[in-house]
Amino acid sequence: LKSALRSFTPTRNDARQNFDPQPSMCESDLAAAIAGGQVVPYYQPKVDVQTGILKGVEALARWLHPERGMIPPDRFIPMAEQCGLIHDLTISMMDQAMAQAAVWHSRGLAIKVAVNLSPLSLEQSDFMHRIMALVDRHALPADRVVLEITESSVVANKGNSLGTLARLRLKGFGLSIDDYGTGFSSMQQLARIPFTELKIDRSFVHGAHERKNLRVILQSALDMAQRLELVTVAEGIETMEDWRLLQDFGCNIGQGYLIAKPMPANELPLWLKGHHRR
Ligand code: C2E
Ligand code: CA
Ligand code: CA
Ligand code: CA
Repeated sequence: LKSALRSFTPTRNDARQNFDPQPSMCESDLAAAIAGGQVVPYYQPKVDVQTGILKGVEALARWLHPERGMIPPDRFIPMAEQCGLIHDLTISMMDQAMAQAAVWHSRGLAIKVAVNLSPLSLEQSDFMHRIMALVDRHALPADRVVLEITESSVVANKGNSLGTLARLRLKGFGLSIDDYGTGFSSMQQLARIPFTELKIDRSFVHGAHERKNLRVILQSALDMAQRLELVTVAEGIETMEDWRLLQDFGCNIGQGYLIAKPMPANELPLWLKGHHRR
């Protein structure tokens, strides 16, 4: 019955249902992949828009499948959420990203590492406990870790997710509102949740220099975030025009293909060398 119901549940992305006709097989595949270390973070630089200095990285999940090659997160995160594997996936991603951040810190690269949270993680009762165990194990100050959360994810406050966010903030974690502008009740949430960062969705960033409507929304969002004393991040910077506009608008941090695509941890030092020379 459970799987019958599942197949009638409308989803945001129909592609995810076509992904595999045998969900149970997929589940065990993904479970084994997570446990076996095939799901790894790639890191995308977050740089200061005014100076170009590297401020942090965002960890983005990649499934390095031995036969099928690299599978992007849109193909397996929804599946992980549906079949209850998202908790293990999130913890595994955090574990790897924190271990990597600790290595970078030990080499003098004091950048922050951002991890994406599924709304489901926040509803899990022992999430707080598991994440605290991780920062302890890696001896990483919580203020070096940013948790990116999509704005629509905490609307329902299921399982007291709002309370969990407040407690995470008190522990020192940065809280970033992700994909800003694409969800609902964003204003309400901004007032209720102690966010530290606002990340404007790329649909308002790329091309804003030539489209007035986008530009107005972008500037208003930045202005509001600045007044709320939030760090402003623009994602999806693809061209010099995008970059210059964000500089003019006083945006703090930028991320996008113009700066760098997500990369394995071992490629970051080389990228950084080339980036400094520019
Ligand atoms: P997101 O958190 O909004 O991440 C940004 C996405 O935009 C990434 O796609 C990134 O590669 C892509 N991107 C970065 N710069 C540019 C650009 O200049 N232009 C364009 N067109 N795209 C750019 P990716 O890595 O495929 O991730 C897709 C989504 O999957 C993420 O969106 C996030 O919602 C989810 N995701 C990824 N990793 C995780 C994870 O570990 N846990 C959870 N819960 N979700 C994850
Ligand atoms: Ca994100
Ligand atoms: Ca985003
Ligand atoms: Ca997104």
